[in-house]
Amino acid sequence: MQPQFPDVAFLTELRRDLHTHPELRFEEKRTASLVGEHLRRLGYEPHTGLARTGVVATLDTGSPGPAIMLRADMDALPISETGKAPWASRAEGVMHACGHDGHTVMLLGAAAALASDPPSYGKIHFVFQPGEEGGAGAQVMIDEGLFRLFPTDYCFGLHNWPALPAGQLAVRSGPIMAGGWRFVIEIIGKGSHAAQPHLGRDPLTVGAAVVQEAQMLVARRTDPIIPAVVSFCIFDAGTTDNILPERARLAGTLRALAPSVLDDLKDGLQHLCDGLAVAHGVTISVRFHQPYPVTVNEDMATRLAGKAMQALEAAEGGPAPDLNIAPSLASEDFGFMLRQKPGAYAMIGNGSSSKLHSPDYDFNDDVIQRGVRYWHTLAHICAASAAAG
Ligand SMILES: [Zn+2]
Ligand SMILES: [Zn+2]
Repeated sequence: MQPQFPDVAFLTELRRDLHTHPELRFEEKRTASLVGEHLRRLGYEPHTGLARTGVVATLDTGSPGPAIMLRADMDALPISETGKAPWASRAEGVMHACGHDGHTVMLLGAAAALASDPPSYGKIHFVFQPGEEGGAGAQVMIDEGLFRLFPTDYCFGLHNWPALPAGQLAVRSGPIMAGGWRFVIEIIGKGSHAAQPHLGRDPLTVGAAVVQEAQMLVARRTDPIIPAVVSFCIFDAGTTDNILPERARLAGTLRALAPSVLDDLKDGLQHLCDGLAVAHGVTISVRFHQPYPVTVNEDMATRLAGKAMQALEAAEGGPAPDLNIAPSLASEDFGFMLRQKPGAYAMIGNGSSSKLHSPDYDFNDDVIQRGVRYWHTLAHICAASAAAG
């Protein structure tokens, strides 16, 4: 039977509606309610309330087979949109700058496509996840029983990717997104007159030393084969130009593609601050927060995703998939799911749009159909590969 794909015009309209009404992490009430309403209309009985606003629907073929989880994220970012599209955000200071509006409708489209053309074996769990942006919503769903309530063999994720041609699908085995830590460093010294630095303990010059020396952690303390980065994004000190301040505050992020390298960076930054505190007679406290694991794609799941991409290209043409895309040092909370279950996180090209998290970014509606068909094909390929043994 030919799958009855949902109407693309309908999904586009829904995507734009979500874009106009973005919601921040764990506040995706309107989005979750729309998702639930559409799932019910398709005949699903969605489970709601995991991680506050998470929605999960299951398609059970009734025949034994693999249970796969397809996941979309729903939250927006605290960014003021500068784009002028008629569907631009109407929520002050909030926008869908990461395309999670597109992810949500692509998965809803897949739920529709698979309801009318289900595979012969197994189960499919459709997961609409809150709080991906800095909220570790995936981990919150897991903590609240996601895998206990919905036993799963393989997890799959899909993110739009502006650097790739529109509709191109991409995946790789092994690490695909970095693990990371955010950090805040407080340096407390002793304020003094700018002309009498010897009577104080200047936290600003110590802060400058921290920023400089921390670059050595990547250059000399970690394996150069494994990508890693230390970035300071906030350096806050002082009130005027003739007083040396008492305090300085720095904040930033550590990223790496291997958990061991991430541990080395974290330990190294702590030791560096401890040493500089002693050397310069100041107090330095380092607080690490928002740990994100490395997103590591499992081999078998990656092969299934790759097979789905190739089958789609063979059936419909379009850009050839990239089955060995370069990893990114951005991070993604789908890594929490992949720590528990084998799976694969893939990308879909967003074409020549602005970069993710920029104020003029927008999801490319032309790729909605490709995304829906990827999910649909993947579900069929997973069921068929299990049937083949
Ligand atoms: Zn994002
Ligand atoms: Zn995102």
